[in-house]
Order: sequence, then C-alpha cells, then structure tokens
Amino acid sequence: MRSRILCATLLASALSFSVPALAQASTPAEKQVVELSSAAISLRSVRGEGNETIKVAELFRQTLIAAGWSEDEIEIVPVDDTAYFIATWKGRNPKLAPIVISAHMDVVDAKPEDWERDPFTPVLEDGYLYGRGASDTKFDAVQAMVAVMELRKSGFVPERNIVIAFSGDEETTMITSKIIAERLKHAKLVLNVDGASGTLDEATGQPAYWSWQGAEKTYADFELEVTNPGGHSSAPRDDNAIAQLSGALVKIGAYRFKPELNDITRDYFTKAAQFEHDPLLAAAMRAFAADPTDKAAIAVLRGNPAFAGKIATTCVPTQVTAGHALNALPQRATANVNCRIFPGHPKDEIMAELAAVAGEPAMTIREINAEYVVTAPASPYDETFVGAVTRALHGAFGEVPVIASQSSGASDSMWYRALGVPSYGASGTFMRDSDDYSHGLNERVPLAYIGRSLEYYRLLLIELSSK
Ligand SMILES: [Zn+2]
Repeated sequence: MRSRILCATLLASALSFSVPALAQASTPAEKQVVELSSAAISLRSVRGEGNETIKVAELFRQTLIAAGWSEDEIEIVPVDDTAYFIATWKGRNPKLAPIVISAHMDVVDAKPEDWERDPFTPVLEDGYLYGRGASDTKFDAVQAMVAVMELRKSGFVPERNIVIAFSGDEETTMITSKIIAERLKHAKLVLNVDGASGTLDEATGQPAYWSWQGAEKTYADFELEVTNPGGHSSAPRDDNAIAQLSGALVKIGAYRFKPELNDITRDYFTKAAQFEHDPLLAAAMRAFAADPTDKAAIAVLRGNPAFAGKIATTCVPTQVTAGHALNALPQRATANVNCRIFPGHPKDEIMAELAAVAGEPAMTIREINAEYVVTAPASPYDETFVGAVTRALHGAFGEVPVIASQSSGASDSMWYRALGVPSYGASGTFMRDSDDYSHGLNERVPLAYIGRSLEYYRLLLIELSSK
C-alpha cells in the first residue's frame, strides 16, 4: 500500500527551493526508468486469473542480467498464481548483514471502464506516467532498481550485499511478503520504497518536504456476536440479541483508547506542525509532542479525523448483520469492529479491552482474517539511518525538511519488523498530494524528478552498504 503521510490541510509552501524544472528523462538512466516502469505497468499483475506478476519478475530478471547480474544471483519463485523476486548483488564481505530494497510487483485491480485511460496501457502525458501501479508501486520499484544498476555499472562495490526483494501479493494475501521477510530476516536494514515519499508544493511543484516511515499501525478485524434462543416477536423475552449487541456497539463507538507517543510520531508532530495552516492544530501538535497527556491538545487532535488515528489505537464498528425475519426475535446479531492498533500492543490486549468496554456477558468476540496480519513494533529511531537518508536527500534535492512518520495501513515492512528487522519506508519519489491516486482511478506519477531520485538512492546506498 502507499499512503500520503501528512494531511491535506498541511501547508507545503512554507519553504521554497530553487530546484530547476528538469527536462524529463534526459539521461539514459532516466529514460530507462520511464521505459521499464511503463513495461511493468503494461503487465496486469493482479491476483487471480491471468495474473502476470511472474512476467514482471521475468522483465526485471532480464534487465538485471543485461546490467551485469548473473543468472545465479537472481531467483524467481512461483507461489500460487503469483511469484516473488530476489536479486543479490554480492558485496566485498558477504558475511555482513545485507541491505534489502523492498517493493512489490502486484497491483490492486482496476476496471478499464472506470478509467479515462486504459489502466494497463502506460500513458505519458503532460509530464506524468499514467497507469495502474504508477504510484503504487512499479515506478518506485523500477527507480530503485535502476539506481542499483547504475551504481554497479559505475564500478562501485558495496561492503555488504545489496538485495532487491520484490513480493507478489502485497495488495492481497501477503503470502510472498511473509516468505521473503523470513528468508531475509538476517538483514541489517530494509529500505521499503513502497512507503513514505516526498511531497511537492501544490502551487510551485517544487519539493516541499520528505517523509520516511518507521512504523505502521496493526490492522485487525474483530467479530462481535450475541446469540439468543429467538422466538415469536409477539412474545418478547428479556434478552434480545439486537438490543444487547447495539448496547455494546454504542459503548465501543464512544470509547477512546489512551493517547500515546513514540519516537516516530514525536518527530512527526514536532516537525509537521510547521507546515500546518490551522494555528490551533499546529499548537496542539506541538503540545502533544511535548506531553501526550495534555488534555486540551488531545481534544483538538481527536476532533480531526486526519489526526485521531495518529495519537492512539482506534476501533470502529464497520458492519452489522442481525435477525432473520420481521416478526421473529433475533437468534443472532453480529458486528465487525475494525481496529488500527498503535504499535506495541498485541491484538489480544485490544480484544480484551473491547470486551471490557462492551460489558455484555452474552457477547463473544473473536479475531477474523488473522493470518493476513502480524503485530509489528515500530522500527527504532536510528540516528545512523536518519542521518544517512537526510544526507542523501539533501545531496539530491537540497535542504528539504525530513520528517518521520507512522502510517495507519500495512505494507511489507510489517513482516520484517515482526521479525526484528528494522524496516523504513524511504521512497525517493516526490509528488503532489493532489496527484495521489494510489488504488484509485487514473493513477499517475510525475516524472520531473527522476534524476534527483536516482541521485538520492545512489548516495543512500553507498553510505548504507559501505559500513
Ligand atoms: Zn504498495
């Protein structure tokens, strides 16, 4: 998945930088990014019948072999109707823990009839590349891959292995994501290019700020259920499954989990406050970063849907099914409560808290779809990493502010973090918030900054793989 980090109300024009409008794709490497990501977009890598993920992997294999990788450095492993891809560039000291570049080759499905342009026909128009996967995440994957190929062609040899690891079902079951993380659990660090990214100023189109992602909330669905013997509606009983479940849902709907702060969100609130238009909100962000028990700040942040999820676990009822006839006492009432759990809390703990809040002895609660999600801690706020990305970003884009972020959705990073491997969303792509159509119609990515993004990856990989 990919999600924009700062909310739409944030002002992105507080600082301006003299980044010239670059001629698009002016070097062979930039041209290769456009051509290869276009070729990848034209392959319909959607789970189910006709899935072409393995063809994307083949395309990447051929490209790397043309750039100097040997056959035995590249693995394509089919899993069900998809596949995963692991390519290793051996460093001077292969015993050192490797640096992993993570992305995914699959995309969310797209219905051609809903799009203005065919989603699986890449279109270059007005400085954008359009197509399903343009922003999530074929362009990012290709850009990072081309940066690695350029580095290898330049004669640079890393100390550590640099491993390109692309999953094939990140948007659905994450079976390959889980397998890859298990295989690479000895990694020193994962750079997930399907996460965070840079933001362009809406008006000027120049880089305004850049985010790295160090944590994700844990997704969980809990099924709540009350069952009764039922009976004729003309002969009511004291217990009623619909009324009992409704009472529980009212309490859960009104409940607010304890606000909390970690190193990642502290950095986010502190630095993002300077881009916030609304002075009340900006003050609340700063106050919360200084003291997460500040009641007034909590009230302001909770009142804004874009921030409510950044300060605490959230759980909301999302579906209800109950009763079987207009004139019968309900035998069953079921609801789904969807939670986004703040890093550091096991799902069981949140489930127990919901049961206590509901206070309904007749209600059962159980987690559903547990196999798709694992509880993952936040990655550490590691000064070595933060220093390296900041230097690389500034070297390529100028003094753009660098902000940590925690996202409310899950990516492949979840599987690495769950195994104790630090994983950081660190895409070198910059785009306007208003250009973000990930998972939506007319998905697109701007092409103006490919050269700078390649430079960012070059600087970052040299530093991270050299020690
Ligand atoms: Zn994604």
